[in-house]
Amino acid sequence: MNEYLKNLNRIEFIVTMCCTGRCKHCSEGDHSTGSPHIDTEAAVQAVKDVCSRYDIKSLMTFGGEPLLYPETVAEIHRTAFEMGIPQRDIITNGFFSKDKNRIHEVAMILHESRVERVMLSVDAFHQETIPLEPVEFFADSLKSAGVYVEISPAWLVSESDDNPYNLKTVSLIGRFADKGFDIGRGNVIFPQGSALKNLSEYFLNGDAPQNPYEESPFDIHSLCIGCDGSALNGNIYHKNVLQLVEEYSPV
Ligand code: SF4
Repeated sequence: MNEYLKNLNRIEFIVTMCCTGRCKHCSEGDHSTGSPHIDTEAAVQAVKDVCSRYDIKSLMTFGGEPLLYPETVAEIHRTAFEMGIPQRDIITNGFFSKDKNRIHEVAMILHESRVERVMLSVDAFHQETIPLEPVEFFADSLKSAGVYVEISPAWLVSESDDNPYNLKTVSLIGRFADKGFDIGRGNVIFPQGSALKNLSEYFLNGDAPQNPYEESPFDIHSLCIGCDGSALNGNIYHKNVLQLVEEYSPV
């Protein structure tokens, strides 16, 4: 077993970098409209292969906006369920269509995929460019379909800081709390990508939040597969993922 991946227990898929939002706090910077999306078959095979060798505890799909490709997302989560991965999450901004029939259909697709938790990004930043109405309709549709939804806000400086963005966020998530949705801890915005460019005045005091998703290349817990198939130092379209795992070296 590759010693650098001996603690591997999680798989993440960046389904696409295309996004329906243009958030000023996005850690990924500007989103290209020409981004590819992960190939369904290759993604499914990668989940099966990794699970055949490792005890994977969690899987997450995100983007960009992953629900621009809901059928792919659903196949990944269905496979994760079949392979016995206990925690199966998606992070979405909830805006992939204005068509209520399609929104309802996607909620049903996710229900059937056995996704365990839909983490719905709602806050002052997302709602600057993403209309709330279709997001609320999607949340309601998921709830009726029996899918667990957790509202996941982004906080600026800290959850308790009373800057104007946080005050707006409190009001927005309150609408969901009033309807009985759980509010998760969300995350504190860190200085990277568009956030660094647009919100730099909030990161001046020297103790700006660190990127919580960074991990040591010498002890990888999470295998992240990009929307172009890239993973570790290679690509699952060109080599079996287990071979990439075997060959990985951080130096
Ligand atoms: S923060 Fe999320 S919704 Fe907003 S632009 Fe970035 S990926 Fe899209």
